[in-house]
Amino acid sequence: MRKSVVAIVGRPNVGKSTIFNRLVGERISIVEDIPGVTRDRIYAQAEWLNHTFNLIDTGGIEIGDEPLLLKMRHQAEIAIDEADVIIFLLNGKEGITAADEEVTKLLFKSNKPVVLGINKIDNPEMRDTIYEYYSLGFGEPFPISGSHGLGLGDMLDQVVSYFPQKEMAEENEDTIYFSLIGRPNVGKSSLVNALLNEERVIVSDIEGTTRDAIDTNLTVDSQDFVIIDTAGMRKRGKVYETTEKYSVLRALKAIERSDVVLVLIDAETGIIEQDKKIAGYAHQAGRAIVIVVNKWDTIESDEKAMKKFEDKVRAHFQYLDYAPIVFLSAMTKKRLHTLIPVIKIASESHAKRIQTNVLNDVIMDAIAMNPTPTVKGKRLKVLYATQVAVKPPSFAVFVNDPELMHFSYNRFLENKIRDAFGFIGTPIKIFARRRQ
Ligand code: GDP
Ligand code: GDP
Repeated sequence: MRKSVVAIVGRPNVGKSTIFNRLVGERISIVEDIPGVTRDRIYAQAEWLNHTFNLIDTGGIEIGDEPLLLKMRHQAEIAIDEADVIIFLLNGKEGITAADEEVTKLLFKSNKPVVLGINKIDNPEMRDTIYEYYSLGFGEPFPISGSHGLGLGDMLDQVVSYFPQKEMAEENEDTIYFSLIGRPNVGKSSLVNALLNEERVIVSDIEGTTRDAIDTNLTVDSQDFVIIDTAGMRKRGKVYETTEKYSVLRALKAIERSDVVLVLIDAETGIIEQDKKIAGYAHQAGRAIVIVVNKWDTIESDEKAMKKFEDKVRAHFQYLDYAPIVFLSAMTKKRLHTLIPVIKIASESHAKRIQTNVLNDVIMDAIAMNPTPTVKGKRLKVLYATQVAVKPPSFAVFVNDPELMHFSYNRFLENKIRDAFGFIGTPIKIFARRRQ
């Protein structure tokens, strides 16, 4: 199910990131335990009352060295493209400036719901100054103080009142939702177009929702698929679309709704830091992953070349050792037919359930083969295991003392589970739990 997206726009220094951090708290969606993934504070989950939504700080998307008015225009365009509701933040100490008026014009034309936050109203006496902001034409201005945490509740009440009453239609259980992520120019749009033009692929309809996202429905051999968010790949040419932060933002949005994420790599230019970062997001989100090496036509292609490139991918993406690799060319369509079956396998793995008795046979055999470790004279005892979730498959292993279950033994059990049940293309999670 798609969560509503809220974007904050406003001039530099009006307090966008202060408000963002307050609303998001510490629940930033990105953690740092994967090399190359830095903490990125532009897109994160926030909560208000019984609503969970995603929040964008458009100020964090540096577009380059542009004059202020142009910068503001691009930020407003990003908010309009990506968000369902826009918080337009102004500095209550400074009044309305020319840049604010520029933003106002764009937001007005977009017809998106806009909530006015007048920041830096740190004490009640200052509230009298907010009436001038009615002149912007967005209705009631909300006096707030990001640094003191004042007035945010009233503003958020207004924001969530614009969320759709009924969340978007429940997604169909049997349909496989997938997205393509990768840095600009790896061939995402080329690959989508190539897929849609395949002979066996039936594109049932291109379903424009009332909002910005466009899903493409397709059927291959009676399996339904949805490609998420190709809108951003189709309509293009905007300045900000080539910035790294913006592609990360789009990737995060698409990953969230996917069962399977295709991580695209460019065979011609090879793997760069940005690829690793993007792949890290998908891994952390717990989605099934297929690595697609595109532009394979540019490589002198034989078995050896493939093996060599595969070794390179494995070395760079060690934490994605479960992800199958598909080599293809979106341009010549060579090996294109190999992709859909792999997406299917990854999706099945992602949703697979293992019966408790079968699982325990495997775990007990594993323990018999490689006895549990002893720490400070105390031996880990594994009592039983059970699968507690799918997407990704997650297992609780009940033990005498979870402290004794070290990373390496966890890894050993994971490998045994993979040997027995496959789980190709999906991360799996194993938690040690103290037996109650
Ligand atoms: P951004 O550039 O819009 O993201 O603005 P920041 O969040 O970085 O804030 C800019 C400056 O304004 C910082 O020095 C903040 O501490 C300050 N600031 C943010 N919110 C408030 C507020 O409510 N009152 C006051 N007095 N200062 C604030
Ligand atoms: P996106 O930014 O990830 O959507 O990338 P595009 O689909 O726009 O492709 C970027 C460039 O790479 C375009 O010039 C494509 O023609 C080219 N391209 C895409 N796929 C292939 C491929 O398989 N082989 C070659 N040689 N070029 C490709």
